Amino acid sequence: MTSGATPDATAVDSSLSSVEAYRTAILAAIAPLAPASLELAAAEGCVLAEDVTAAVALPSFDNSGMDGYAVRAADVAGAAEDSPVTLPVTGEVAAGDIGAHRLAPGTAIRIMTGAQLPAEADAVVPVEWTDGGAARVAIRRAAEHGNAVRYAGGDATEGETLLTAGTRMRPMQIAVAASAGRSAVTVRPRPRVVVLSTGDELTEPGSPLVPGRIWDSNSYMIAAAAREAGAIAYRRSGVPDDPKGVLPALEEQLAHADLLITTGGVSMGGEHDVVKAALRELGTVTFRKVAMQPGMPQGFGVIGPGGAGGVSAERGVPIFTLPGNPVSAYVSFQMFVRPAIAALQGADDLSLPSVRATLTGPVRSPSGRRSYLRAVLDGSKVTPLSGQGSHQIAYLGRANALIVVPEWETRLPADDEVEVLVLP
Ligand code: AMP
Ligand code: MG
Repeated sequence: MTSGATPDATAVDSSLSSVEAYRTAILAAIAPLAPASLELAAAEGCVLAEDVTAAVALPSFDNSGMDGYAVRAADVAGAAEDSPVTLPVTGEVAAGDIGAHRLAPGTAIRIMTGAQLPAEADAVVPVEWTDGGAARVAIRRAAEHGNAVRYAGGDATEGETLLTAGTRMRPMQIAVAASAGRSAVTVRPRPRVVVLSTGDELTEPGSPLVPGRIWDSNSYMIAAAAREAGAIAYRRSGVPDDPKGVLPALEEQLAHADLLITTGGVSMGGEHDVVKAALRELGTVTFRKVAMQPGMPQGFGVIGPGGAGGVSAERGVPIFTLPGNPVSAYVSFQMFVRPAIAALQGADDLSLPSVRATLTGPVRSPSGRRSYLRAVLDGSKVTPLSGQGSHQIAYLGRANALIVVPEWETRLPADDEVEVLVLP
């Protein structure tokens, strides 16, 4: 069966949650952070919780759109290449000049871009149409009424809405707010995310490795991914596989976290799956199998308030327990945590862009689970990387996309068209 064909219902295991159902349940449980007024410079990456309107008309005064000469259009109506009009230059007005300039009939005033248009002037002759004279200027082309003039209110009228609530403050939006005279805006701030990696095998990169141990990559990766998604991220590496240690380690972070993420310790059973064991006791975190590969074992819930299991916070803090294998953790982050970070800001703009592309080689996928295969997207072609094991991090560094293989497909041939998610 090729992609796009009708799904075979029997191919989907009903004991698994679908990716969509799981994501919907997560987003339904996330309440947006309280809005706060932040200085403009600190508001970058935050999401507006108010509309921003123009305090004054933009621009607030008639000004020149070019460097040249302010004139009366009637005075230069006869100007032509072979019969220039020559006018005396009576002054100069630069951007920022707040003096009262008035243009006398039959004269010109040198004017710079952004400078206030002198009273009685109704056009600007660009310097390129002239000889650039200082005392007298020869004008070789007629300028119509309003030529190169930026009229007051031509960009926005006073009170006009320039940015609406829900807009993310990227550089252009910061510029709009500043241009509207705002030094602070009311926004939902960047969520504070704490990433805890668990496992007795974890060693900090930079420390020597002994057999049986590995360097911790997840806490760095997930914290970086959270920052990339606009969060403020902190990492706490190597929480030991000690059932008594997990809750206190989480509790320590509650006061300064809007979102907690653990990696590891949630496999399908076994006394070493300490995250699952510790959180299960609280009863507020649900562990599910999601119909995807990688990333089947997932956990999500809210911990605190009220001291359940010794964990307390003023309001509940959402927690994701991601699988330990790095590729599973990464894919799970992109599928579930990234949209949750947006939801904490009252936004829904962080799902990965999806495109269609042609496979350059065949792919395989387990029946009943949706595969996300690391791949290189190049224009309209997508090449699956070899080494798709969840622990195989070597090729993760080459991937710029994930090929989506639907639940009901077990193999797709080269040249098939597939959905591809573009990685940030
Ligand atoms: P777990 O989910 O704890 O059973 O871990 C599954 C696999 O992921 C094991 O091979 C772990 O060694 C590996 N793993 C767990 N945590 C990390 C981490 N922070 N960095 C790299 N690999 C990890
Ligand atoms: Mg572990």
